[in-house]
Amino acid sequence: MPDRESTCRHCGTCCVAPDISTLNKPAGVRCLHLDGELRCRIYEERPGVCRGYRPDELCQMVAAPELEQRVGRYLGLFGIESAGGV
Ligand code: SF4
Repeated sequence: MPDRESTCRHCGTCCVAPDISTLNKPAGVRCLHLDGELRCRIYEERPGVCRGYRPDELCQMVAAPELEQRVGRYLGLFGIESAGGV
């Protein structure tokens, strides 16, 4: 399996689109730890759910030029309603 750094495009979608209960983050709401460059401010201390995430075909499926578009595609694929804006 390829490692995260070799395949992750740092598109930010997985830090915005899904709900992450550990972080009290609803679906469609930007994680408070995501910076303006779409990097995690607490990368070394990020929770296990984030550590365990691996890029997969979903990353290709939601690919789009803008974060808002990617998040919209993600939510649409799973029929999830956004709780907020990007
Ligand atoms: S803690 Fe970091 S890796 Fe986890 S969702 Fe937030 S920004 Fe992304």
